[in-house]
Amino acid sequence: MSLPPLVEPAAELTVDEIRRYSRHLIIPDVGVEGQKRLKNARVLCVGAGGLGSPALLYLAAAGVGTLGIIDFDTVDESNLQRQVIHGVSDVGRSKAESAAASIREINPLVNVEIHNTALDRENVRDIFSRYDLIVDGTDNFATRYMVNDAAVLLGKPYVWGSIYRFDGQASVFWAEHGPCYRCLYPEPPPPGMVPSCAEGGVLGVLCASIGSIQVNEVIKLLAGIGEPLVGRLMVYDALEMSYRKIKVRKDPNCVLCGENPTLTDLMEDYEDFCGAVSDEAQEAVVDSTITALELKDWQDSGKDIFLVDVREPAEYEIVRIPGATLIPKGEILSGEALAKFPQDRQIVLHCKSGVRSAEALAALKAAGFSDAVHLQGGVLSWVKQVDPSLPAY
Ligand SMILES: [Zn+2]
Repeated sequence: MSLPPLVEPAAELTVDEIRRYSRHLIIPDVGVEGQKRLKNARVLCVGAGGLGSPALLYLAAAGVGTLGIIDFDTVDESNLQRQVIHGVSDVGRSKAESAAASIREINPLVNVEIHNTALDRENVRDIFSRYDLIVDGTDNFATRYMVNDAAVLLGKPYVWGSIYRFDGQASVFWAEHGPCYRCLYPEPPPPGMVPSCAEGGVLGVLCASIGSIQVNEVIKLLAGIGEPLVGRLMVYDALEMSYRKIKVRKDPNCVLCGENPTLTDLMEDYEDFCGAVSDEAQEAVVDSTITALELKDWQDSGKDIFLVDVREPAEYEIVRIPGATLIPKGEILSGEALAKFPQDRQIVLHCKSGVRSAEALAALKAAGFSDAVHLQGGVLSWVKQVDPSLPAY
């Protein structure tokens, strides 16, 4: 399915622009007309992180006239492995500001609009309505569903991408012409089932593989060329080096874009919809949660504690809390590792951020270890509150 161009062409290209974009202008399918459309286009990138970094760099170089960047985060050293729009001197700086500076360096003809804020249900419509097209580079389900819902409600197309370890996916969601994200994934995954990149890792260059597919689709939509990835899901496996295209149909029962939609406005609470942890875990942590400082006190006072790290071995290799024994969450949930837990010592579970340890705590309590506790904020809060010399990965 080919679609008409999303954007009207600008009146003209300047001499500078003709020089700069000559390699585009001589491609018959792009030409002066296509380049004028890019010049007139307003594209918003949600997130200047793993996917947003390569996407913004190439959108800027391609001559998209106005680029919006929304990101409230600051650049961290652990971002530099993949977020190539930021550099060492940007650590600690706002990601949106840092990305804008890189864009100006690549192409000063691009007009950059910075939204140094978190996208939320209060501002999402207002921000999205100022752009022709949205690039979704978010890394969490709550924002992803909100981006989808706002785009559908406003009738905007958006180019979606997702990455994890060696696997990437991309698609174009545009309810007017095809399915939306909810047609593909009506429900978020159960809490704790799908680890984030912060928990599970991501191959840095995968961001470029998927981010470049996203830019490719943006250019096609803006200029009205080729077959946009509407109604098709691109699935990339970097280890197999395979690209598969899967047909995605519009779901007539989709609550948002189906025949009888029940979701006619943004949801009240996307975090709640996507659930940080399961009900069991939420229940298990009540009165069974300690802080990093409390754990340190327990250790210093010689209390007989059995400290268990429920992360994966690779994470344990990177950084560990002194005295911790590694028993990955999966072994606790399956019951396989229960025999390793002593009955007569204070059990303390921890993970990276406190989500997995909450799940493991629920399983442990269900198995009769009612006095077990977990560490709030996991290794990250230990590093922050007790030992900043350790790496926060
Ligand atoms: Zn839908």
